[in-house]
Amino acid sequence: MRKVLIVGAGQAGLQLALGLVGHDYDVTVMSARTPEEIRGGRVMSTQCMFGPALQHERDLGLNLWEAQAPRVEGIGLSVAAPDGGRALDWLGRLDAYAQSVDQRVKMAGWLELLEDRGAKVVYHGVTTSDLDPLTGLYDLVVIAAGKGELVQLFDRDPGRSPYRTPQRVLSVVYVHGMEPRPEHPDLRAVRFNAVPGVGELFVIPAHTLSGDCDILFFEGLPGGPLDCWDDRPDPAEHLDRTLSLMRRYVPWEHDRCRAVELTDDRATLVGSYAPVVRRPVGVLPAGGRVLGMADVVVANDPLTGQGSNNAAKCAASYLDSVLARGDEPFDEEWMHGAFEAYWEYARHVTFWTNAMLQPPPEHVMRIFGTAARVPAVADRFANAFGDPTDLEKWFFDPALTDRYLASVTPA
Ligand SMILES: Cc1cc2nc3c(=O)[nH]c(=O)nc-3n(C[C@H](O)[C@H](O)[C@H](O)COP(=O)(O)OP(=O)(O)OC[C@H]3O[C@@H](n4cnc5c(N)ncnc54)[C@H](O)[C@@H]3O)c2cc1C
Repeated sequence: MRKVLIVGAGQAGLQLALGLVGHDYDVTVMSARTPEEIRGGRVMSTQCMFGPALQHERDLGLNLWEAQAPRVEGIGLSVAAPDGGRALDWLGRLDAYAQSVDQRVKMAGWLELLEDRGAKVVYHGVTTSDLDPLTGLYDLVVIAAGKGELVQLFDRDPGRSPYRTPQRVLSVVYVHGMEPRPEHPDLRAVRFNAVPGVGELFVIPAHTLSGDCDILFFEGLPGGPLDCWDDRPDPAEHLDRTLSLMRRYVPWEHDRCRAVELTDDRATLVGSYAPVVRRPVGVLPAGGRVLGMADVVVANDPLTGQGSNNAAKCAASYLDSVLARGDEPFDEEWMHGAFEAYWEYARHVTFWTNAMLQPPPEHVMRIFGTAARVPAVADRFANAFGDPTDLEKWFFDPALTDRYLASVTPA
């Protein structure tokens, strides 16, 4: 039986571990926190996942909250106008619903499931010096530790990383009691509210420890009015500040918040990080090799809501690469090949996300303007969140955009 060690119990590490256990690998996961510590901890993400990524979970029988979690059936876009109204406002429908299950619920549950399915789980925060002796004990060591300190084992890839500094300041609050959206009260959707020159507010229906909720997620331009969290406010103050920013910049969303309250006393998060792509193989001081996965090696800004989706797709891709290797060694060449197979997908996400961090060019504004009149355009953009590889056919190049828009609008 081949032995695999996975460091990190997030979307990527746990999904890969559960996949390998299903194929009779001897799997050990090292997790910095126990299920109870995860459930009792702070929110970590907004984790909205789209149809293709959710399908990877279903394939492994990991969709434990699918019946409870709200079904997200569309993606809306609103662009604020200078007068406090909306210059643009439309909804695209998803072919397959999306869902957001609080990672505190999901990762705690998956850790327990993993032990039930026969893997070993060691609760220990791993350091670089722990890893050297461990590489000799396993056929393969995978680092799935998110954006934690172990990323230092993996060099930044400058050719794939255009940014060196954070492009947004992030603020998250989970609330109960948000009123339905008056435009489509019976359809749950993620809404992308853009405030030119200031940032974005995402509103995301989700499932948390205490049931259904909505997540209010601000992405602020550094140095702008949404970059106001350095004092790390307590949760009550964090909610008050969020609401007053909403009243000022996205009043149509604030109107839905007359009776909101925090879901729990760990329901807020602030932070920022620079988007980065890293080289996939880490070399340890004594010469051992480890393979990086998901956020360790490709960490995009959450603006396009792709990180958990990427983690699920990375886990599915690495599982295929491990199974295809059979009994051959998981050497450095194989590690590079496994990463490049994943990057062939992830490069689309990175390119799109990095582009969306800039003010939209004229042809993208034409896409968004046409989407307000032509539902097919809104639907195509919405479905790109599930499959961003579609975008290179029509979104980035003005000539391709013109051709596509001409094909869906009457002459
Ligand atoms: C504010 C915000 C909003 C987001 N919204 C979305 C969204 O809507 N949709 C989406 O798809 N993505 C979203 N993302 C991104 C998404 O959350 C991440 O990309 C995803 O969780 C990455 O999964 P992962 O398994 O690579 O890492 P993680 O989820 O970070 O998991 C890593 C795990 O490793 C553990 N760990 C770290 N260091 C060690 C160590 N030394 N030893 C042992 N364990 C360790 C950590 O405790 C953690 O459990 C968002 C991110 C943020 C910050």
